[in-house]
Amino acid sequence: MSGLFDLTGKRALVTGANTGLGQGIAVGLARAGADIVAVGRSAPDETRGLVEQAGRRFTAISADFSTTEPIGRVVEEAGAIDILVNNAGIIRRADSLDFTEDDWDAVMDTNLKVVFFLSQAVAKRWMAEGRGGKIINIVSMLSFQGGLRVPSYTASKSGLAGITRTLCNEWAAKGINVNGIAPGYFATNNTAALQSDETRNRQILERIPAARWGRPEDLAGAAVFLASAASDYMHGAIVPVDGGWLAR
Ligand code: NAP
Repeated sequence: MSGLFDLTGKRALVTGANTGLGQGIAVGLARAGADIVAVGRSAPDETRGLVEQAGRRFTAISADFSTTEPIGRVVEEAGAIDILVNNAGIIRRADSLDFTEDDWDAVMDTNLKVVFFLSQAVAKRWMAEGRGGKIINIVSMLSFQGGLRVPSYTASKSGLAGITRTLCNEWAAKGINVNGIAPGYFATNNTAALQSDETRNRQILERIPAARWGRPEDLAGAAVFLASAASDYMHGAIVPVDGGWLAR
């Protein structure tokens, strides 16, 4: 049974692996046996230490995913990979009446456009090599719900859930599994403003059946599952890891 989830000999490219959910996912995949290629704009030193402690190889590639410009170089430098985790993402908060075009474009570019074109570049490579692979998109509760004061974030994550299904429809028969993980409310930099707002923090905690914020390591199980042979017949699914939020 454990062989189903074993990632020994696999290489996973994880974007935004220096902190937060990306770090939790990278370390989880490494503990299941995968070597990690961390791609992002901040040095992933802490993640390197944790991955190497798990006995796996770690490669860092520096790239700013506010545009698609670095994608070709990243795929080239990464070399052979088996798993792509599209995790890097940003959020901008403002009332919809005041929301700026800059806050719209920045979020849509990083969270949606870059994710699509990075997935395209990796899939082209896999298809040229006649092989498949696993793509895991990190979506959100706001792939299902509207949220408040985060219009471009909701648009990007709802769009990414849709693109997850589009890519599934086009690539499943080529042996590429495209699935998503929808984290609930996790304590990271992304949610710092919510955690430090006493009222919002209380409202959020009251609504989570598990009665606590998620921790990055809570995503490891779903990530290992979607990266491993255990999910070979799963395509186009969005797996919530949300302490029960959506059940409420
Ligand atoms: P985080 O701690 O802010 O981490 C975001 C990661 O994305 C960081 O590694 C960040 O790098 C990277 N990133 C952002 N812009 C980038 C760019 N232009 N180029 C390269 N890397 C960039 O937030 P997080 O909560 O771990 O978020 C990870 C993913 O989970 C995001 O897609 C987010 O939308 C999603 N998510 C989070 C939650 C939650 O509750 N926390 C819930 C649902 C979904 P830097 O450190 O250099 O900024």
